Amino acid sequence: MDKIEHIGIAVKDLAHSSDLYKRLLGYQSYKTEEVKSENVITEFFKIGESKIELLQASSDESAIASFIEKKGEGIHHIAFAVENIVDEMTRLKTEGFQLLSDEPKRGADNKLVCFVHPKTAGGVLIELCQEIARNPGDNP
Ligand code: ZN
Repeated sequence: MDKIEHIGIAVKDLAHSSDLYKRLLGYQSYKTEEVKSENVITEFFKIGESKIELLQASSDESAIASFIEKKGEGIHHIAFAVENIVDEMTRLKTEGFQLLSDEPKRGADNKLVCFVHPKTAGGVLIELCQEIARNPGDNP
């Protein structure tokens, strides 16, 4: 694992929380993106080498909606950057961690992602993410 790529924070109202983080950090977010497969709208703030990812549910089926119902707003997951997500998934399985998917999935911010179940990770939802290589001519 390379570094903390971002910290995911579950929020009820993205506009409200975006404004809060803008005032807290002193600058704007650099990106807002809907991830339809996960039923979330995300907004990213850079903080040094890492990021803050705000997550708002876009439907009642969203994991963020049930998280907020159970625990309220707050830190939802910690994401680690990895060089090769498939290798790390294999390594973690061997170490006894339960992964939430068998294959990496397309996440927000141009990443392949996989989550580690919090019950096998000391109560913390862990996300692995690998930057998807861009080819010249790809759409951003
Ligand atoms: Zn994340």
